[in-house]
Amino acid sequence: MKALNELRLGSASNHADTWRSIIEAHTLDQRNTSGLITELHCHTRASDGTLTPSELVELAANRNIRVLSITDHDTVAAHDEASEACQRYRIQFIRGIEVSSLADQGEVHVLGYGVKPTDSRTIERILALRDARDGRAKAMVAKLHALGIPVSYDRIKTLAGDAMVGRPHVAKALLEGGWVAARQEAFDHYLAEGKPAFVPHQGLTPAEAIELIHTAHGIAVVAHPALFAGDPDRLLASLLPHGLDGVEVYYPMHTSEQVAHYAAFAKTHGLIATGGSDFHGFVGDLETTLGSIHLPGGSIEAIEVRIEQAQSATSA
Ligand SMILES: [Zn+2]
Ligand SMILES: [Zn+2]
Repeated sequence: MKALNELRLGSASNHADTWRSIIEAHTLDQRNTSGLITELHCHTRASDGTLTPSELVELAANRNIRVLSITDHDTVAAHDEASEACQRYRIQFIRGIEVSSLADQGEVHVLGYGVKPTDSRTIERILALRDARDGRAKAMVAKLHALGIPVSYDRIKTLAGDAMVGRPHVAKALLEGGWVAARQEAFDHYLAEGKPAFVPHQGLTPAEAIELIHTAHGIAVVAHPALFAGDPDRLLASLLPHGLDGVEVYYPMHTSEQVAHYAAFAKTHGLIATGGSDFHGFVGDLETTLGSIHLPGGSIEAIEVRIEQAQSATSA
């Protein structure tokens, strides 16, 4: 699968073109909205975004977003600060997470909405995920060393700061050390799937990711299915018996045909349809995307009902 990081790090003109076509593809959806501006998929510095939780909420307020969910990769570290900031701006905050998992044909991201961070067992498992991801970075460093590139793991950790160590930080260290001339080169030559220093995500299967989200009293939604390297329909169908709650239908990189397809899939199988921009902060040309994905009227209400059902079912 083409990771978003790699897409984001692509050439500037590609970004602009991609983004223009995305915006055009979504004008139809915008006409169908109830007028409520929402953002259900975005990242802060707690994972690989560039803004702090407070900065992101401030930006959301500036863009008149009324419902916000922060969905950092494998961590809920931004929730408390973001929730407080949302109260100040009277923005409805939905506690979210984007859990990385691995199916046979590639990575699958599973979004969790309405998760309760007070569930300590859940937090422990989330932290275990985080450790697995650190292990992944260490394995990448070992592979780079074997290739004759003595990049320092400690330096990568420093570059990551409070965020989880991931491929973007390894790429940054490679650029900093002069082993590559551009961040994209780090992915193209070493870190992308199929390249010599690529290490797959360890840890959960998609079904286990759904289970983890349900344990945390949230609802589980497969993120950006069209980006899955295998057959997305088969993947989604295989997750129905595991209690999959929804599909991320509205997404910048989904074509209008894909949007229609996944909306129909969700309807047929009684799943909720969600959507969001996958905003990561001020990264090149993609900086204006927070709140840019408009959901059809009634979407947020359907998501809220599903979260309420999940929470009353698990606490009964
Ligand atoms: Zn994702
Ligand atoms: Zn994301």
